[in-house]
Amino acid sequence: MRPQSFLLSLVFTVFLPVAAASELKVLTSIAPIQLIASEILADVTKPDVLLPAGASPHQYSLRPSDVRKVKQADLIFWVGPGLERFLEKTLRLTDARVVQLLESDSEHAHVHESQHQDASDNLLASSQQHKEQHEDHHHGDSDPHIWLDPLHALEIAEVIRDAAVNAAPEQQQILDKNYAEFAEALLQQDKRIMTELAPLSQRGFVVFHDAYSGFVEHYNLLQLDAVTVDPSRKAGAKHIIELREAVIQSKAVCVFSEPQFNAAVLKTITSGTSIRTAELDPLGQKIEPGKGAYLAFLADFAEAFKACLQS
Ligand SMILES: [Zn+2]
Repeated sequence: MRPQSFLLSLVFTVFLPVAAASELKVLTSIAPIQLIASEILADVTKPDVLLPAGASPHQYSLRPSDVRKVKQADLIFWVGPGLERFLEKTLRLTDARVVQLLESDSEHAHVHESQHQDASDNLLASSQQHKEQHEDHHHGDSDPHIWLDPLHALEIAEVIRDAAVNAAPEQQQILDKNYAEFAEALLQQDKRIMTELAPLSQRGFVVFHDAYSGFVEHYNLLQLDAVTVDPSRKAGAKHIIELREAVIQSKAVCVFSEPQFNAAVLKTITSGTSIRTAELDPLGQKIEPGKGAYLAFLADFAEAFKACLQS
């Protein structure tokens, strides 16, 4: 008996301090939010993500293990019901602080009135402010892929920092430092991408789904059309014929597919033509979370546009 109990006490000695520090359990809905969170939370905690690689938030059902993650988290970040409808009901089952990053349509406006009213109210109020500041250059659209506009990504980072400071005030110094470094690097990179993409602003292209307005408007690109507005529905036959006509008349120089969706319909549009096709991953599912993760995602994303649009 003795050796065994000694081993047990040794194990406890080694692991108790870690457990006692009770690392903040942060959960994000989708990969790009995890990438931004991992920039801000570096050296504090590793944010987890619900949506597995290859899945689309437009058509996802939670697995039992996902529901467990939601219940066990301390802090959850999601875009909102306009993107992750699959998460809406399950979020009512958790005691975690839930931070919705995009203001919902009026029908969902009070979705988080429940338990943690103070924290939620503050964050929603601040995100509402951000939204109002942005409305003049966003033409009142409701594209929920908010992380694709780098300035929106910076606002998301700010909300994540504030929520994390609220949940773990003892980490404020690290969180502030991470945010400041991220902001500086992001604004520099944004300038560089702006310069690189400027000469391509008249080159038309077609995207798979209507997800890119944040990026396209920020960098003044010429998106002609999308194969589908709602990727959970099949694109209409008439629309496919229109797109094929546009491609044949060389109005577009590039058609972008996405790894989360079958590219067969794009072949119908482009077959027998010389138009270039390339893949865009709006979710950045190949990028490893950590410091520099969102920056790497944005660089890859811009590079995919540049490579396909130029020459
Ligand atoms: Zn989408």
